[in-house]
Amino acid sequence: MPIYEYKCPQCTTEFEELVFGGDTPACPSCGAKNSERLLSCACLHRSSSSRVGQAASAPSGGGGCAGCSGGSCSTCG
Ligand SMILES: [Zn+2]
Repeated sequence: MPIYEYKCPQCTTEFEELVFGGDTPACPSCGAKNSERLLSCACLHRSSSSRVGQAASAPSGGGGCAGCSGGSCSTCG
């Protein structure tokens, strides 16, 4: 169900409201109908590939650390 967060610009009351058809609900506190819709955090979860840069710097497979890449230095253990 489309639940949105709104903030009233007149009394700064924040409230959640079920919205159908894109209507703007009236403020439950003062009754103003020009409430501003707030962006929900749910829309920030995207399946992006922004972590490719971090994975590229780490060696994949094989032993060794960033210092020797052979698995035979003191850092490797
Ligand atoms: Zn209000």
